[in-house]
Amino acid sequence: MEVFDTVIVGAGPAGCAAALHSLRYDTRMRLVSDEPVGGLLGAASRVDNYPGFPSRPPGSSISRILARQLAANGITPYRHRISSITSTGTGFLLTTASGNRFESRTVLLCTGTAPIEWTLPGGIDPDAAPRILRDIRLLPETLDGAPVAIIGSGEAALDSALSAHSRLGCPIVFTRGNRLKASDTLVKRFTQSGIRWVRGLEAQSLRSDSDRMTLESRVDGKLSRDTFRHIVVCIGRSPRWERLRDLGSNAPPRHIETGIDGVFAAGDLITSHERYAGIAIGDGIEAIERARRYLLERNTTA
Ligand SMILES: Cc1cc2nc3c(=O)[nH]c(=O)nc-3n(C[C@H](O)[C@H](O)[C@H](O)COP(=O)(O)OP(=O)(O)OC[C@H]3O[C@@H](n4cnc5c(N)ncnc54)[C@H](O)[C@@H]3O)c2cc1C
Repeated sequence: MEVFDTVIVGAGPAGCAAALHSLRYDTRMRLVSDEPVGGLLGAASRVDNYPGFPSRPPGSSISRILARQLAANGITPYRHRISSITSTGTGFLLTTASGNRFESRTVLLCTGTAPIEWTLPGGIDPDAAPRILRDIRLLPETLDGAPVAIIGSGEAALDSALSAHSRLGCPIVFTRGNRLKASDTLVKRFTQSGIRWVRGLEAQSLRSDSDRMTLESRVDGKLSRDTFRHIVVCIGRSPRWERLRDLGSNAPPRHIETGIDGVFAAGDLITSHERYAGIAIGDGIEAIERARRYLLERNTTA
């Protein structure tokens, strides 16, 4: 069985930074991810806070550059989902969803977040459920005037609305309250875009009807029924820490040191509010440094 010094789970900004930084040391490293390189950053319509990119490119462009940088440095991400991590006493046994197994002396969890569940009092049609998008990565590049409902009031919702608008769709943003919870620049871009914003939404049910979906809701108490081609629900995300549960942890990690010897965490996984790529990158580098120190203290580098 293959044995590594460090396995990094997740190839978003945190995992990519960790993988690239690990090359400074003579360690055996594997980067594993169930999604393309860049992770959630690929959902961003315009990234204006990532140093080195004055043109404010979409996150998908930065992700492609990251993929090229990994390849140029000889890092080929192992495209699998890690489905369990167990302790071996001297390290960890990682198993993929397809049953492949390998060992590592340290593990870096850079697994980011998963969307929180959207439930409606009147239910969601089983045909509609798989069509609900949680970010714009699966939204078609050209929308040809298609009506798109965006549910949510935060950065991801406004950014997704702007993406849908730039893809020539007709987005409408629905929020429960009267406040947009995003940076000033994003709120300004959104306001200037002329995208419709409906406040006071209480969504009731979602039905599927051939290529459309009908959202039944109360808006300021009045019943309304609107039909959309696409629905993007951005109502929040929670840490993907299920692999730490495998190891006996009963709470999501808050710090790079997870409390489990040899397991470190980085990026959105450990950040509850300000979730940004730059923070994830810094964490990823720091996590590798700590893993390196851990290995040196035990004198166990391969
Ligand atoms: C719409 C939107 C716009 C944004 N815009 C900006 C912006 O302009 N600027 C900015 O700085 N940030 C932005 N962000 C936030 C930024 O995308 C995140 O902060 C960043 O991607 C977090 O990086 P990460 O590596 O921690 O996690 P992620 O990018 O979420 O990557 C984690 C990866 O791990 C994989 N993974 C999880 N579990 C497993 C497993 N068991 N096995 C294998 N792989 C696994 C996931 O599939 C994922 O690919 C935006 C986010 C969204 C949603």
